[in-house]
Amino acid sequence: MTDANSAIVTYSPAYTIVPTYECFNRCTYCNFRTNPGESSWLTLSAAEEILKQLKNEKVCEILILSGEVHPNSPQRQAWFQRIYDLCALALTMGFLPHTNAGPLSFAEMQQLKNVNVSMGLMLEQLTPELLKTVHRYAPSKVPELRLQQLKWAGELQIPFTTGLLLGIGETADDWWTTLEAISKIHQRHHHIQEVILQPHSPGNQQTFDALGFVPHQLPAVITKARQILPPEITIQIPPNLVKDEQWLLGCIEAGARDLGGISPKDEVNPDYPHIQEQELRDILQPVGWELVPRLPVYPQFDSWLSEELQTAVSLWRNSS
Ligand code: SF4
Repeated sequence: MTDANSAIVTYSPAYTIVPTYECFNRCTYCNFRTNPGESSWLTLSAAEEILKQLKNEKVCEILILSGEVHPNSPQRQAWFQRIYDLCALALTMGFLPHTNAGPLSFAEMQQLKNVNVSMGLMLEQLTPELLKTVHRYAPSKVPELRLQQLKWAGELQIPFTTGLLLGIGETADDWWTTLEAISKIHQRHHHIQEVILQPHSPGNQQTFDALGFVPHQLPAVITKARQILPPEITIQIPPNLVKDEQWLLGCIEAGARDLGGISPKDEVNPDYPHIQEQELRDILQPVGWELVPRLPVYPQFDSWLSEELQTAVSLWRNSS
């Protein structure tokens, strides 16, 4: 650590709401999806019950994380409406929604901007080679489609989180290409809050038969990512996927400054329980790092939000 600012590591006190686990893609490393039509969607009343129970906890961010309904499906409009309504409900109850529901149309993004303080989509990797392997049956993982989302988010002034999934068959050069693409889009629109570097971590449901990304490699990737990305973009790592304390601290020393949403369950990696706040503090504090909660929107983006959202955000900023 070299200065006072660099001694802070942030996280978002969050809870993940899943409108549906059904997904028309079949990424072979997925530990989340069910087949379309095989699982019921979360109702608004069930969501309300969950949210009521969170009222007295420190949860601020509601991450709306959904499997995807095909854009041409007759169910698409109902799926989108459910996501919208869940965001609106969370907002009404005083939480700050952040949606990640796969690629959306421009009009869908525009509507969700009204009920989200930020949104996200993992770019994962830009190499088209993965369309022959892990993404062979995942039409949403066409790289141009995902890049388009980042551009639209910029045009719509939506504060955005994206990231890379590491260790799904790409090369090291592919990492730099993907990071450079994020950097380039950000330099045009200045809308990327965070880039997540997520190590592939095998789970029980997946069919992709590969070892997890070795966390020992992560600090070096972060160091290079820090050189490629503009300084205002925060690098985020999921601490439950970098379990070894030594390597977690190594990642922070290398430039990661955010640990993402800490919630009771990591829905994407259900085999890897989140490390809770106190345990993280116990790891970080003895070596001089202060763990600080943050909102799902960074202060420099507050003015991009509607008046209603700005009011909701300022209540949280003033209470912290
Ligand atoms: S990783 Fe995401 S897009 Fe791929 S199958 Fe799973 S839920 Fe669907």
